Order: sequence, then C-alpha cells, then structure tokens
Amino acid sequence: MSELAINDLHVSVNHKPILKGVNLVVKQGEVHALMGPNGTGKSTLAYTLMGHPNYEVTKGEVWFKGQNILTLSPDQRAHLGLFLAFQYPVAIPGVSVANFMRAAINSQRKAANPADKGIPIPEFRKQLKQIMEVLKMDPAFASRYLNDGFSGGEKKRVEVLQMAMLKPEIAILDETDSGLDIDALRIVSEGVNKLRGPETGILVITHYQRILNYIKPDYVHIMMEGQIVESGEADLAIQLEEHGYDWLKTKTDIVMG
Ligand code: ADP
Ligand code: MG
Repeated sequence: MSELAINDLHVSVNHKPILKGVNLVVKQGEVHALMGPNGTGKSTLAYTLMGHPNYEVTKGEVWFKGQNILTLSPDQRAHLGLFLAFQYPVAIPGVSVANFMRAAINSQRKAANPADKGIPIPEFRKQLKQIMEVLKMDPAFASRYLNDGFSGGEKKRVEVLQMAMLKPEIAILDETDSGLDIDALRIVSEGVNKLRGPETGILVITHYQRILNYIKPDYVHIMMEGQIVESGEADLAIQLEEHGYDWLKTKTDIVMG
C-alpha cells in the first residue's frame, strides 16, 4: 500500500515563502480534498510535489514508496506512480492527444521494464476509445493537437483522460472543476469516480465545495496562508460552503491567539 507523506514542507517562490509547514498523508484508496482561498499555496503544493523547478523547498520532506522524492525529476516521480492534472494545462501544437498519450504510457512501461516494447497499438486504441467514451469526448479529439484551441472544459477532460490512461497510484487534481459548466463537471467527476478504488489515492484541490458533491472525499483539509489550518471529514466542506473562509479565519485567530 503506497502513501504520499508530506512532512513539514516549506516552499519559496522567488525567495518568497509560500508554504509554511504543510503536513499531509494521502494513502492509496483514499480521496482527500484540499480547499482554500486563492493565493494560499494550493497550486504551489501541487507543483512542488511534482518537481517544478521554480518551487524551492527550503525545509521538509515528501515520502513516497520508501524514498524522499524531492531529489527526483518530475518524470521519475511520474514513473513511481504520481500524477498531476494541471490547473492550467498547456497546449503542445504538433503533438496529437493520441501520440502524447502513447508516448507517456510507453515511457512508464519502459521505466518499469527496460525491455518493454511499448503498448500494442490495438490495445492502446481500445483503451483510449473506452476512456474517451466515459468522458463523452468526440473520438476526433484523439488526433487533435494536445490542448491546442481546446476550451477550458475540454482541457480538463484531457487531464482526466491522462489520469485514466496512466492509472497513477496517487493523483493530484488541481482545480479540475474550474471553468466547467455543470454538465462537464458531472462527466469529469464520473471519470474520476471510475478511477476511485483501492489502487488509487486522490488529492482533489479546489476552491469550491461544488465538485465535492460529485467526488465525495473521505477527508477535507483547509489551507490558509501556506498551512493546513483545519482537517476533517466531508462535512467540513459543507460547513465551509455555509460560513465562508472568514469563519475559519476567525476560528484559527482564536486558536492561535
Ligand atoms: P492557489 O493555488 O492556492 O491559488 P498558488 O500556489 O497559485 O495559490 O499561489 C500562492 C502564492 O504564490 C501567490 O501569492 C502567488 O502569487 C505566488 N506564486 C505562485 N507561483 C508563483 C510564481 N511562479 N512566481 C511568483 N509567484 C508565485
Ligand atoms: Mg491554484
């Protein structure tokens, strides 16, 4: 059973401290929601976990599969079974969704077994088709350039498509709900829910409680100003929706004096 364990993580961007001691454990089979107002460091955490070079870890450790992964490159982290769905996916003109997906899968397979010859094309096509059906994507998307001219909602579907194809052990979804209308939100959530199970741990990062109506979290954490200030179960998100972030601010001010 794998777990991602974040211990006292401090991160700076351009020498400005953003994360100020984050502690969190996400195990395979669990769904955690990380909520918090804009600018509190949620994406900073996601990028740092995946190894973005702009995010400087000044203190702390991140353990996954028996090693502190902070020294590993993003591709090494991905090969271990970590996945990040970006808040702002980038376009790669010239690379089709299908070719991108196949290269990613083959890279994973090769890391696991250097003698691997790559996924057989018919098997790849079948998987891609099945998952695109779940996500209600037009099959024509497979041959379009990755995110090139895609709408916000289409980009988010492609992120979930990647997650479904790569079958990570721990997946981080950074605001996969933002920019989605209610129908797209339902479809994307269904896709995520299909991947839920004992093999997959999911960290759903979101500003709003709305997506949690569809992806029911086991645990909810609230981040404020670079720290997790409150953790609880699903009802914490509902309380937050009712009272707003100011309610927590008042609460933590009282606790912290
Ligand atoms: P959230 O995802 O919770 O909205 P972010 O992690 O994106 O928050 O941002 C946290 C803080 O870090 C913000 O003040 C933001 O301006 C700053 N920040 C994040 N990334 C960068 C960057 N690449 N360069 C400069 N500042 C950044
Ligand atoms: Mg963000």
